[in-house]
Amino acid sequence: MSADPAAELPFFYGSVSRVEAEEQLKLAGMADGLFLLRQCLRSLGGYVLSLVWNLEFHHYPIEKQLNGTYCITGGKSHCGPAELCEFYSMDPDGLACNLRKPCLRSPDTPIRRGVFDSLRENMLREYVKQTWNLEGEAMEQAIISQAPQLERLIATTAHEKMPWYHGKITRKESERRLYCGAQPDGKFLVRDRDETGTFALSIMYGKTVYHYQILHDKSGKYSMPEGTKFDTVWQLIEYLKMKSDGLVTILREACLNKATIQTPVLPSARRPAAPRYTPPPGGLGIATKPLSPIPANTEVLPMDCAEFVNPYHNPNDLKKFYIQREQLMIDEVELGSGNFGCVKKGVLKTDKGQIDVAIKVLKNDNEKLVREEMMREAEIMHQLDNPYIVRMLGLCQTDALMLVMEMASAGPLNKFLSSKKESVTTENIVNLMHQVSMGMMYLEEKNFVHRDLAARNVLLVNQQFAKISDFGLSKALGADDNYYKARTLGKWPLKWYAPECIKFHKFSSKGDVWSFGVTMWEAFSYGGKPYKKMKIPDVIRLIENGERMECPAKCPEQIYAVMKDCWTYKHEERPDFKKVEGAMRTYYYSISNKGQPEGQTEAATPIK
Ligand code: AMP
Repeated sequence: MSADPAAELPFFYGSVSRVEAEEQLKLAGMADGLFLLRQCLRSLGGYVLSLVWNLEFHHYPIEKQLNGTYCITGGKSHCGPAELCEFYSMDPDGLACNLRKPCLRSPDTPIRRGVFDSLRENMLREYVKQTWNLEGEAMEQAIISQAPQLERLIATTAHEKMPWYHGKITRKESERRLYCGAQPDGKFLVRDRDETGTFALSIMYGKTVYHYQILHDKSGKYSMPEGTKFDTVWQLIEYLKMKSDGLVTILREACLNKATIQTPVLPSARRPAAPRYTPPPGGLGIATKPLSPIPANTEVLPMDCAEFVNPYHNPNDLKKFYIQREQLMIDEVELGSGNFGCVKKGVLKTDKGQIDVAIKVLKNDNEKLVREEMMREAEIMHQLDNPYIVRMLGLCQTDALMLVMEMASAGPLNKFLSSKKESVTTENIVNLMHQVSMGMMYLEEKNFVHRDLAARNVLLVNQQFAKISDFGLSKALGADDNYYKARTLGKWPLKWYAPECIKFHKFSSKGDVWSFGVTMWEAFSYGGKPYKKMKIPDVIRLIENGERMECPAKCPEQIYAVMKDCWTYKHEERPDFKKVEGAMRTYYYSISNKGQPEGQTEAATPIK
């Protein structure tokens, strides 16, 4: 879940009321300029600054604006709550006085989570479940990797997914639905009023239906007449379940819209990604609920792509290691090549439909070593199932040995970035590299070492969706092993290798962490070549001397700090992927939440 940008501030109390805030300030002595920060219940992502002056309390709401900046009404905009407080500590700029002394939270007072914090989490889950039909681990991965985008979607469209939302129905029809079945007080529904995007709330009370218009003011806020204003319809509804705010009753039981609850929306139905499955004749028998058109600038999220989930709905299908030749249609188009042979485009026919695939075709079947290597790669891939790792779909053995994999049609990350220097933003690369860190964390958890992590082996499904590939050098570690000791030297990507891999041939996930740092460097230099034209002995000397590659021109400082942590000389002191993923996540959320302009940087949590 995305962290509150104020969570790090020692004077932030979370969701405490005005009275509680005043109590804290009293306890702290009521000095002039004593202040604290708390969460605002009404505006999404907003705060309230509570300040003492002349033994009186002053409370200033801080709004989060649409561009992601924060401001006190009429005041200057700031990129975060910390920056805002720093500004007002130097200049009162209209406040009763400047902020002089933070009212610090005591160690036994945790930040209080607001009703919307847990609500937001439930909403996210419900939304992801309904929109993409995801659950379990796939749902968790979707939420972790795309939380900032999901929160934006939820803020604006989540009411469409709510069981109480009935879309465009007439007043008469709303009454018919409310009178249908039991008629308890507080039974309610929300409907569209007209084409202008305004809503009506219809409530049952004393066996009579009352209709209220939900007001939508110029600044985009929703409220009941004279009532509290909210950023979204669903927040207003949640609030009205607790407070009547002038209505005949508080809201109790939702009048269920059968269309919302009985018709799960097909993955990809809502958004413009190409579905991978061809529905069986007669369709899937699931009616999709009409949804509002997607704004043209909506990014395609990884979950919009069929490659996000395992195509084998029944995990037992995965046991089918071998694929029949008749199931495969092989295109002449070559996607790439390596020393084993070439990778071709193709289509795999399954009983659930057709899947676009990439097929690694072995060049010379007689070459025992290459064949064995490919079999090992297949065995490793067969055990992995994560959205950010290319899945193997099976092995096909005819005249040539063929490894059938998920298709990542936008190709290797380094090539993609070097051809799109102008159009790919730093935030986009942070998102992709965070996904890679999630895939690597999964490998680390399963005790696999990749041994060839590099930008050329990160393949893109599209500009927003990355997958780790090429498991040709990978190894599964035994339960008691901390590392793999290579007995024979091979064609090793030494510029990506950690010192212990080069010197002692010891490979562990910590070695992969070093390679992740180099891959990050490649990504943030838009497909640049690590260590340029330097020869390997010179690279080794440079590292032994404690020097490291420099920060790429467009790379945020915080990302460079993660890279340098990945290049910690001693593997015992190097962070693991759990820590690296945490640092990438924190930084990614911080820039996505603030809609930060290019080049500006934010504080990331240190990972060591
Ligand atoms: P590899 O030897 O596995 O690195 O594959 C060689 C090249 O084939 C890669 O650099 C890609 O251009 C292409 N390729 C490999 N696997 C896939 C895939 N699953 N989807 C799309 N292209 C692929």
